[in-house]
Amino acid sequence: MQKKYLLAPGPTPVPESALLAMAAPIIHHRTPQFSAIFKEAASLLKYLFQTKMEVLILAASGTGAMEGSITNTLSPGDEVIAINGGKFGERWGKISEAYGLKVHWIKVEWGHAVDIAEVEKLLNDNPKTRAVLVQASETSTTATHPVKEIAALTKDRDCLTIVDGITAVGVFDVPMDDWGIDILLSGSQKAMMLPPGLAFAALSEKAWKFNETSTCPRFYFDFAKERKNLANDTSAYTPATTLITGLLESMKMLKEEGLENVFARHNRLARATRAACVALGLELLAPRNPSDAATGAFLPEGIDGGKFVKYIRDGVGVTLAGGQDHLKGKIIRIAHLGYVDTFDTIIAISAIEMALKKFGHNVTLGAGVAAAEAILAEGL
Ligand SMILES: *Cc1c(COP(=O)(O)O)cnc(C)c1O
Repeated sequence: MQKKYLLAPGPTPVPESALLAMAAPIIHHRTPQFSAIFKEAASLLKYLFQTKMEVLILAASGTGAMEGSITNTLSPGDEVIAINGGKFGERWGKISEAYGLKVHWIKVEWGHAVDIAEVEKLLNDNPKTRAVLVQASETSTTATHPVKEIAALTKDRDCLTIVDGITAVGVFDVPMDDWGIDILLSGSQKAMMLPPGLAFAALSEKAWKFNETSTCPRFYFDFAKERKNLANDTSAYTPATTLITGLLESMKMLKEEGLENVFARHNRLARATRAACVALGLELLAPRNPSDAATGAFLPEGIDGGKFVKYIRDGVGVTLAGGQDHLKGKIIRIAHLGYVDTFDTIIAISAIEMALKKFGHNVTLGAGVAAAEAILAEGL
């Protein structure tokens, strides 16, 4: 037999209590029993998103919330700034173009954060810009962007800051209300410790004002309709009842751990993994502005990343992620997000060490694990 470990930046492992909750027989969604689950989960989501606003629960993958954020606040012809520092930033721009918005692209070198001065200049040069679209954590490059500073730039303009927080919410501190973020998104299969299938979006008062005049075509993702239904502890269409039952469990777990401890755990695992990569001689992809969701590192010259990731997955039993686009075959990405703790991180690092040796790279076995343990011990 071979035991399997899932340490990719989505989907992520699901805790036993959530799995068991989701194994219960299906209940009907238009019942007081389900409404009670829905209501409590929705309330706990506000804690996670650090907002007093409602958090909409959508039956979709994360991209559904991205698309809905655009179609519910903007109109064809509107100008937006898309910060393209990786696959997900590129997706912001592509969705906008699909709906006839005019996109001002900011191309950011992969692994880097956007230069806030560049955002400010583009906003000044294009005063009709209606939204800045950004990732708090660009999962494809394991880098963060300065979301707080961007929100401060749009605060007094007729412009929204729309933040894809899909690998940031529940990973590190992104206080929506404090920072003045206008839309914050997440998805179930990342830090929220659930299977894929739910997406979440919270809108500020300003974003709801934009909603009143937005004319993008929409039907299924109609945020105003969802908000009305949410007030009655239900959703417009059949909710993903099983996933929401699991959501209540995972939200209770996060609440019990406490957001500060959740952030500290992710940070500790991320620092340990970065230290391990450095000890193994692997160059980090985002050394200056790393996300605590996942660590990206370049593989040594001559190792085929595709084969390496496949070997670790099928030969060793540990699922990591490789690179996308021009980084395909060149990097590995090790996740720390969601239901992941000290010994999951040790497993990932140990697997990488042994695989490096197998692929003929000259590593000192245990060097990465030792570097990681020095940091992980803080949490024990
Ligand atoms: C996973 C992810 C998404 C959503 O992707 P889906 O496949 O639609 O769930 C969006 N943005 C970021 C940063 C992500 O990590």
